[in-house]
Amino acid sequence: MKTIGALIWEPGTRSGWSVEDIEIDPPKSREVRIKLAASGICHSDDHVDTGDIPLPWAPIIGGHEGAGIIEELGPDVTGFEVGDHVVLSFLPSCGHCKMCTIGRANMCEMGAGVLAGFAPDGTHRVHARGQGVGPFSYLGTFSPYVVVNIDSCVKIDKDIPLDKAALIGCGVPTGWGSAMYAADIALGDTVVIVGTGGVGMNAVQGARHRGAKNIVTIDPVPYKREMAKIFGATHSVENYEQAADLVSEMSNGQGADVVIITVDVAYGHLLNPAQEMTRRGGTLVLTSAAPVTQRDVPFDLFTFAMSGKRLQGSLYGTVTPRRDIPLICDLYRRGEFKLDELITKTYELEQINEAVQDMRDGKNIRGVITYDL
Ligand SMILES: [Zn+2]
Ligand SMILES: [Zn+2]
Repeated sequence: MKTIGALIWEPGTRSGWSVEDIEIDPPKSREVRIKLAASGICHSDDHVDTGDIPLPWAPIIGGHEGAGIIEELGPDVTGFEVGDHVVLSFLPSCGHCKMCTIGRANMCEMGAGVLAGFAPDGTHRVHARGQGVGPFSYLGTFSPYVVVNIDSCVKIDKDIPLDKAALIGCGVPTGWGSAMYAADIALGDTVVIVGTGGVGMNAVQGARHRGAKNIVTIDPVPYKREMAKIFGATHSVENYEQAADLVSEMSNGQGADVVIITVDVAYGHLLNPAQEMTRRGGTLVLTSAAPVTQRDVPFDLFTFAMSGKRLQGSLYGTVTPRRDIPLICDLYRRGEFKLDELITKTYELEQINEAVQDMRDGKNIRGVITYDL
């Protein structure tokens, strides 16, 4: 079929997204075609343009945070029907590899290929200017239609608004799971969340669900500090120094039980002040993606070891997509999860470069591209 999509032809050059005509093939084995309601715009998409995630291939169709309705089934599809509502998971889970079977589906082996530039079977579904186009995360939601493998699809109930549910494909579980699972927050804990955008706000919600007593957020943007309170922050401050003073006061000088870093781009210098704020035996979680060339981290190793702290990486919030995506939908339905408030502004696909600039400027918690459904 013919439609449009937002592509990058020269990754890493800050050329911006080109919205142009594309051709999408029919679904092959174990694939479905989905008409999307919306696509979130995530920093990871922008990393391709800035080069923080270097891609040795092009062109790429961006977007990895979508939800929509299944329109067509390819051969060998089981468990899905035309008309099903699905969230697209930015990392697939096959259900039978080692990581899936030991309860670490966020690290499904199939996910290793999401930036290889092909569908999981090594071929292209999207074509532009006579060339095969690689999808971001096997998805490519910067188009009103996608053809994707069913291992990337998680079925949800039809009463959940799809334009909101799109966010449950990446930013929501990444932040929420970082607090729920990666940090393993205990009832009554003091938690610091560094950076409250489309990921960090959900870490705030996760900390609330875990029963944290104090949830301190750090963000330089006044609007985000204000919004953090709506998501459950008990205190929100501008910088590390203010947070350190506050946490020290709250904890008799002990420090925070948990610090979670959910900034837009991770750099080495952010880690040590976060460690200093973490109490002895506490946990520091790093969720944000860093530029792949970022290797140097000034870190007080002596204190780190001698005070028994834990540094925990968090990919996709350590969630199990097939368990947690429907669970988040259920929490939303019960009024216990804020999705609507995450969406600051909606855009047409043609406005994607404006939307990305707004994200870079810190204007949005999440900007979302909406499609006519
Ligand atoms: Zn993302
Ligand atoms: Zn797997």
